[in-house]
Amino acid sequence: MSLLQVRGLKMHFPVHGGILYRKLATVYAVDGVDFEIEAGETLGLVGESGCGKSTVGRSLLKLYEPTAGEVRFEGKNVAEIRGSELRSLRAEMQMIFQDPFESLNPRHTVGSILEEPFVIHGEKKAAARRQKAMELLLRVGLPEDAYHKFPHEFSGGQRQRIGIARAIALRPKMIICDEPVSALDVSIQSQILNLLIELQQEMGLAYLFIAHDLAVVKHISDRIAVMYLGRIVEIADSQTLYRDPQHPYTQALIASIPVPDPRQRKDFEPLPGEVPSPLHPPPHCHFVERCPYAQDICNQQTPELKALDPEDPKRRVACHFAGQLKPSGR
Ligand code: SF4
Repeated sequence: MSLLQVRGLKMHFPVHGGILYRKLATVYAVDGVDFEIEAGETLGLVGESGCGKSTVGRSLLKLYEPTAGEVRFEGKNVAEIRGSELRSLRAEMQMIFQDPFESLNPRHTVGSILEEPFVIHGEKKAAARRQKAMELLLRVGLPEDAYHKFPHEFSGGQRQRIGIARAIALRPKMIICDEPVSALDVSIQSQILNLLIELQQEMGLAYLFIAHDLAVVKHISDRIAVMYLGRIVEIADSQTLYRDPQHPYTQALIASIPVPDPRQRKDFEPLPGEVPSPLHPPPHCHFVERCPYAQDICNQQTPELKALDPEDPKRRVACHFAGQLKPSGR
């Protein structure tokens, strides 16, 4: 049994307006997503801004109530979990947020931020809480005197270390990393990625690693799921995805990764047009308006996310012509 199983997850947000505040439209932020994560595994979730990847992460933790679908963590249906069981679930499934400047309470010292999870989970002895907070600081590479300081006294990378320390405080099994390095300088990004990898090896953590940068995701992920306009269009182990992308959107994303060596660069055609609004996605294949291979069937039938090879059920693509399309560019 997988640690996390997601089936048919949908998250639609109503848009209200007018004098009577009636429902005027629906934002189809997540529109039927399936994936699973094994214990100790990293699944990268990539796609352009606004494709719904952060909404997926928040729905897993019940920060949003999904419109439809099922999320199972260790076999338990997350939608049915309440009260103390929900508190336990949140201890086992934690989140690291994108913006370390926003995700830490500026009025609290780092010590009280790190002790809070232990307070919530019943550790009554102040000395024990302090000791655990000190251990967390050392584990993420911060000095002990950070305990008495406030978040504004740290750099962006150090604040993200504080966010990571808070996330591992209760020894979770899984962490949802919501663009954890995209607000950081490039030089700091690799330090934070390496810290996450070390913690994973030590604690057996599983990660859902959400990012828009394919190069960053490749560095850390065992498998990668590519999202476009609320749906997963391709999922595969990271080597396969980079070597042999099958969905036209994945092909375009990989072709657009900058290559440092000018001799190895090849021309590639950027995708035409813009991502359509999630208020009005195309009814069948969401990629149809930008796809160079679109045919009539793409406007008539929704392509299912299905295995290309029955012997490799974890490698799946949502395209009527998967397996027949040659990547353009490099
Ligand atoms: Fe392109 Fe059709 Fe495949 Fe959609 S189903 S990605 S429109 S070829």
